[in-house]
Amino acid sequence: MDLHKIIRSAILGVAVGDALGVPVEFYVREARRQDPVTGMRGGGFHGQKPGTWSDDTSMTLALMDSLTHKGFNAEDQMRRYADWLRNAKYTAWDDVFDVGSTTADAIDKSYSGAPLNQCGSRDENCCGNGSLMRIMPMALYLYGTGRGELNDETALLIHASSALTHAHPRCLMACGIYCAVVFRLCAGEEIRAAVQNGLQDALDYYAGQKAFAGEMDKFRSLTTIGTWPEQMLRGSGYVLHTLQSSLWCLLTTESYADCVLKAVNLGEDTGTTAAVAGGLAGLYYGEESIPAEWLDVLARREDIRYMCDAFADVLADE
Ligand SMILES: [Mg+2]
Repeated sequence: MDLHKIIRSAILGVAVGDALGVPVEFYVREARRQDPVTGMRGGGFHGQKPGTWSDDTSMTLALMDSLTHKGFNAEDQMRRYADWLRNAKYTAWDDVFDVGSTTADAIDKSYSGAPLNQCGSRDENCCGNGSLMRIMPMALYLYGTGRGELNDETALLIHASSALTHAHPRCLMACGIYCAVVFRLCAGEEIRAAVQNGLQDALDYYAGQKAFAGEMDKFRSLTTIGTWPEQMLRGSGYVLHTLQSSLWCLLTTESYADCVLKAVNLGEDTGTTAAVAGGLAGLYYGEESIPAEWLDVLARREDIRYMCDAFADVLADE
């Protein structure tokens, strides 16, 4: 597959999923049963207009921009996250209306001069989805530079990127698993094969890593995720729930639109579940599968495309 196409499909997939979820964020699933989301809308808790994406896409764009201009540079990644949170760079409408507490704490620590390796929380109570929701560009960067497999070298970089805000092994491993699935999708595998093989790649890798021994049980059951009934899935901000739900939505639907709507209609942290699922679905079904009426209202869609192409140009040159 063409790198420009891969990157646009994945990143627009994230942004559109995020924007579909923003207006119904924090509402429970029962509210969605009564009033399912079927397309772009505005309002809700954040009071934004239709097509507005949030922190998930902002941080994804910040990371992509950093990788485009600096290659892998953790300091630069953190600097751009601070630029987002403090100066509203990488936002839909020059406004930051949504940030997770673990992420905000880490950026604040860094801003006050703490060393990078002390900013991200290692606390088990800080296992939110804040690094998983933005990790897509890391997978694309590694794939695009001929390193599309999970091994010591690539895991180190994925983990280092997550750890800037979320340093608990569970968050690192969730990001590693997600990237392993992305690698398989980039290689053109069919959805079920990509998920199954990507998961197996990651589980095999982590099984040999002592630091992750305590986390293996949490993730092993992902191999049967496609058969879980809906009531076993949550749309909460917990990183494991987000990874489970995004893979489940991908495996139980047959189009980009159905995948992201299913994610949104799980309720709770809707923007993030749909962003994480949407990146995978965008990658598999392609940019052209994203409904035009959704892309038409997506905030800064041309800027996003431009940034994607700049990223692809740099990777193609390496
Ligand atoms: Mg969000």
